Amino acid sequence: MSKIAKVEVLPLALSNKPNNQTDCDGTVDTLVVRITDEDGRCGIGECDAPPSVVKAFLEMPGAHIWSMNPIGILMGRDPLEAPAIWQRLYEATNYPGRRGSGIHAISAMDIALYDLAGKQAGKPVYKLLGGAKREFLTPYATIFQGMPQGRSLSQMMDVTQKLFDKAIQIGFRAVKMEVLFYDLVTDRQLVEVIKEGRRMLGDEITMMVDFGYRWRDWHAAKWVLDRIEDCNIYFAEATLQHDDLYGHARLSESCGIRICGAEQAATRWEIHEWIQTGKVAIVQPDINRCGGLSEIRRIAELAELYGVQVVPHGWKTGITAACGRHFQASTLNAEAFEFLSPYLYDSPLRQSLVSPEPMIVNGRMELPAAPGLGVDLDEETVRKGLAGFEALQTG
Ligand code: MG
Repeated sequence: MSKIAKVEVLPLALSNKPNNQTDCDGTVDTLVVRITDEDGRCGIGECDAPPSVVKAFLEMPGAHIWSMNPIGILMGRDPLEAPAIWQRLYEATNYPGRRGSGIHAISAMDIALYDLAGKQAGKPVYKLLGGAKREFLTPYATIFQGMPQGRSLSQMMDVTQKLFDKAIQIGFRAVKMEVLFYDLVTDRQLVEVIKEGRRMLGDEITMMVDFGYRWRDWHAAKWVLDRIEDCNIYFAEATLQHDDLYGHARLSESCGIRICGAEQAATRWEIHEWIQTGKVAIVQPDINRCGGLSEIRRIAELAELYGVQVVPHGWKTGITAACGRHFQASTLNAEAFEFLSPYLYDSPLRQSLVSPEPMIVNGRMELPAAPGLGVDLDEETVRKGLAGFEALQTG
């Protein structure tokens, strides 16, 4: 065993792109945790939360037994004990972090622990998660046109068509259409937009739809979903407000399409509420927000008891994309995972923070083979990202 000797917090942000807060793009920044053992091996993790907030959490001075410095807890530990370390981190940060940014920060640490443990053992992370439960992986592509920002519906649909074509060209056979069109369309027009999306994709592609929390009235959501039943939609995501679990339950019980959500949920306890109260068919915790690989394993086992699928959200860098691969490899009730392709998103953080990238052939990826997560940081991108973060702090 080689103990943890160093923990680094790396807040990264794009410096070459104006900070456009009116768009909806999780790849403009990230926070990477890098853990080094006594022999100089490194593990990396990240979380999808504001880097300055997570940095403050990770570096806070300890005050008492439920408000301790998280980095201090890791020092000297064995990375192979990631779930035990998770428990210690959770209990020791209950005051500031119970189900919010603290859990996101713990997610980054947990992912880095698995990466490091895998590198120490010379095994891919999915083997540490219990081993291969499938022979190949099935990623799905998210097609996001950006927020309308003055563009017309036909301009948005032109972009949609181009991105659909590109996703299929690079190998995807499952595609999620984002329809964050809000006031650009009425509900009646939205039905036609989704039908047009299905026509663009053809019948052979698995199609999902993300509504971006469009409704506050589950009846209105049902009105649209009933009218697109013949589009063979695999799931309907973010229909209602994230915390409207009773609305989700009403919608789930009255619609033929799988209702899903929970992309912002943290810990198995929140997911339990989504399943028990929200009655969703699929939960979509993000590995880098819900509590990391330790926690999504527990979530998958919990979901299995209710016949619920776990299809993780992932809208960050290649670190999160790698986590999705190892999770699906080791999980039966995960029919797919969101894979943010660097060929569909031009953020330098997504495209070059880590490498290598996996191939997609006819909708499938091979199981990862390299030790740990199987991706390595690019130091030049880290350097630029740190500078970008600094520039944002000083305004
Ligand atoms: Mg979403």
